[in-house]
Amino acid sequence: MNTFEQIAELERQYLLQTYNRYPVVLARGKGVFLWDIEGKKYLDFVSGIGVNALGHAHPRIVKAIRDQAAKLIHVSNLYYHEYQGPLAEKLCKLSGLNRAFFSNSGTEAIEGSIKLARLAGHRAGGEAKCRLVALEGSYHGRTFGALSLTGQEKHRKGFEPLLEEVTFVKQNDVEGLRAAVSDNTCAIVLEPIFGEGGIYECSVEFLRECRASADQHRAALIFDEIQCGLGRTGTVFAFQSFGVTPDIVAIAKPIAAGIPLGAFIAKEEFATAISPGQHGTTFGGGPLACRIALEFLSIVEEEKLLENVNKVGAYLQEKLKELVSKRNAAIGVRGRGFIQGIQLEIPARPIVDEGLAEGVLFNSTHDTVVRFLPPFLLEEKHVDKGIRVLKKLLGKKRAAAA
Ligand code: PMP
Repeated sequence: MNTFEQIAELERQYLLQTYNRYPVVLARGKGVFLWDIEGKKYLDFVSGIGVNALGHAHPRIVKAIRDQAAKLIHVSNLYYHEYQGPLAEKLCKLSGLNRAFFSNSGTEAIEGSIKLARLAGHRAGGEAKCRLVALEGSYHGRTFGALSLTGQEKHRKGFEPLLEEVTFVKQNDVEGLRAAVSDNTCAIVLEPIFGEGGIYECSVEFLRECRASADQHRAALIFDEIQCGLGRTGTVFAFQSFGVTPDIVAIAKPIAAGIPLGAFIAKEEFATAISPGQHGTTFGGGPLACRIALEFLSIVEEEKLLENVNKVGAYLQEKLKELVSKRNAAIGVRGRGFIQGIQLEIPARPIVDEGLAEGVLFNSTHDTVVRFLPPFLLEEKHVDKGIRVLKKLLGKKRAAAA
């Protein structure tokens, strides 16, 4: 078997150097735990940045993948298969929206959403109705369209020119939003909770204003729920936690339990703007991915996992707030359910590095935030372990700084 050094060296030689990986080679997982190639065990608070909501090697997912792989992994979207229609129906019923399109990733779900909004915009107001409104600090993906909506300089830098028709507004700036939206706006695009941007929530007041402005100017309100959706906030869609319904919602990450799949779901009045041949994909919505997504949604329902997200999420928040109240180099807690972040006074990356040595996978985002995106199966005893380790590491840093 190759050692960590051999594996890392091979990647150094042959991969585009786009990732700054942690020094660990993961080999297998079970539930909320992972093991590396040397057999060391880790508690997983990252779940593949929100993908492994059912943890690892969930028996029903393993069984369904085995069964479907032996029957049919892929067919072209030229043909029907048994699972795409039922999955679309299920997602429409859960969201209250009308029609779905399946992609391979979150970024592609965003691209498809803005293409649909452009078509609907042009239909409603001609060529000029093409402008997009997005939020400063947001993250929507790395293709040119999604990157053009991403309000973070560090991701955009070096790739200009991007789409020029985007106006950025500060999150929760109601007046700014009103001023930015016009009859030439075809879509307002936002994450109800910023994921990569550091776990900042949109206020209900702001979301209501987005809804009202979109209605007034016949623009599409698009929610990017790729990170915060599908159960992480304790409701199936995050927008159900906020009480504001978008015209289009983009989802991905946990939907097919790790098999690549994304989707956008649209209201009928926008969905009818597209016709055959105007959008498509080779892999998106294949039989394996769609069957597993149906299984994922059934498991979340039957195992009452949203109840667990609400209960253990509240417990996690209470424990994080305790850390903050005792200083511990931490100054705030944001988010809800199983999408939370603790704001540190110090860089988060060294905490994450040392967490590894302690057998806990944490994740840092936005330089000084430790982000929690655990599997929906996480229990209070796992929270206790994570908090114990975090407290120890923050204490060590404070002692070192003193
Ligand atoms: N939008 C949000 C809110 C995300 O968190 C991500 C991924 N981190 C994306 C879009 C892009 O998704 P993907 O990496 O699957 O293309």
